[in-house]
Amino acid sequence: MDSSFDVVIIGTGPGGEGAAMHLAKNRKSVAVVERFRQVGGGSTHWGTIPSKSLRHAIFQLAEANRNPLLRSAAISLQLPFAQLRKAANSVIDKQVEMRNTYFERNGVTIVSGHARFVDPHTIEAEESNGARHRLRAKSFVIAVGARPYHPPDVDFSYPRIFDSDKILSLSEMPQSITVYGAGVVGCEYASMFRNLNVKVNLINTRSKLLEFLDDEIIDALSYHMRDQGMLLRYNEEYENVKPAEDGVVLALKSGKQIKTDVLLWANGRTGNTDSLGLENVGLTPDGRGQLAVNENLQTAASHIYAVGDVIGYPSLASAAYVQGRYAAAHILGHAEPAMIRNIPTGIYTSPEISSVGQTERQLTDAKIPYEIGHAAFKNLARAQITGQTVGMLKILFHRKTLQVLGVHCFGANASEIIHIGQAILAQSGPANTLMYFINTTFNYPTMAEAYRVAALNGYNRVF
Ligand SMILES: Cc1cc2nc3c(=O)[nH]c(=O)nc-3n(C[C@H](O)[C@H](O)[C@H](O)COP(=O)(O)OP(=O)(O)OC[C@H]3O[C@@H](n4cnc5c(N)ncnc54)[C@H](O)[C@@H]3O)c2cc1C
Repeated sequence: MDSSFDVVIIGTGPGGEGAAMHLAKNRKSVAVVERFRQVGGGSTHWGTIPSKSLRHAIFQLAEANRNPLLRSAAISLQLPFAQLRKAANSVIDKQVEMRNTYFERNGVTIVSGHARFVDPHTIEAEESNGARHRLRAKSFVIAVGARPYHPPDVDFSYPRIFDSDKILSLSEMPQSITVYGAGVVGCEYASMFRNLNVKVNLINTRSKLLEFLDDEIIDALSYHMRDQGMLLRYNEEYENVKPAEDGVVLALKSGKQIKTDVLLWANGRTGNTDSLGLENVGLTPDGRGQLAVNENLQTAASHIYAVGDVIGYPSLASAAYVQGRYAAAHILGHAEPAMIRNIPTGIYTSPEISSVGQTERQLTDAKIPYEIGHAAFKNLARAQITGQTVGMLKILFHRKTLQVLGVHCFGANASEIIHIGQAILAQSGPANTLMYFINTTFNYPTMAEAYRVAALNGYNRVF
């Protein structure tokens, strides 16, 4: 095969799909190259979808075991990890089928194989059987994602040492686990294992959990993780990881030693830029395999865009998709920068966390006079009914203009209800106002009602 396209995209995860759909719908000829046997990317096969399906299965099991009726009948449910993990398979199948249909229906050519640039306007895709296809294009979008970072001195072939991909194939439920690295993936898996009653050590190399969040949310997360019985260690760095017959010993530079049944290494990710032939187009990734881009998501070669995990933070499927769309819009000449501003975060720890806009720290540093409105979930009728009373929503707003500047939330449904705040925060001029939440009728009883409660709480502070 030897073909020319307007745009060739490398990778069919959310970044590649977002770009492909927008270009195809705008009548560009598009090819996507994918080296995995199915479309969907890491997001569908070893990231978002399997981890969130697993989390849901664990949540259901934990809920059942907390159910007072079952407890009074002395019923306790236990399921093997593999069975919990199986819950994801049908979702993955549905996602793959659906995404294949999107590509096909929109006339996007799917090319199998590992892509590498041979010159600035040509890539070669090599299939596992050695067959090669050359594709030429005016523009390219690199959406190759990232993989877990493997330090050379940690033996990942040892069956008790896992990364976030391998953990999905855990065969037996451990009694104890050490999670090294307290980023989003580390915190999410630590929460999942704790919900399975596994003893969890969460080792943070930094002084705070998830530093990009608002401090009050960070404090709440660490409080609740400890309250659930997790052991958290901060400012630690590993000295070595030693496999033992009956476990794994993590030695820390501080002199501490931690032995658990298994270890999950969740410290860092590497962009999939090696063997992409970047030297043939004059691009050099950084030490983490990531590509630098400008505000239009163009690399140093302006006809080559990069989106998603390969450009680093925020490394979310949601962000990758919108970045893909943005790169496509820029190729088409109608990019709207607001598209990639104020991307919300959704973090599926226990409790769940979500936020959008600026944090108190950022507003204080920028000397913006803000006020805060809080709503504690324990005071909401809906939370009292469902029993999910842990949580809080806070709105940060300008004390003079009442402009909403940030919304930060943790607890049940946090990642859903954040979008109400996002919709107001995204408005320009007087349409972005705290008064929206005060003058709007919210269904009752709902978690969304937290907005009215928080807005009134904050408004009452203004003088
Ligand atoms: C455990 C875990 C949980 C997560 N949970 C969430 C979540 O809840 N919400 C959320 O928003 N995000 C979540 N993420 C992050 C999310 O998965 C990523 O941000 C997202 O997948 C990035 O999309 P992408 O398109 O950049 O890359 P990917 O989805 O990784 O797709 C990249 C694709 O490119 C292909 N590829 C790579 N190199 C080549 C090549 N040379 N030639 C051809 N094909 C190539 C790969 O095979 C892959 O299919 C999670 C990640 C992990 C690891």
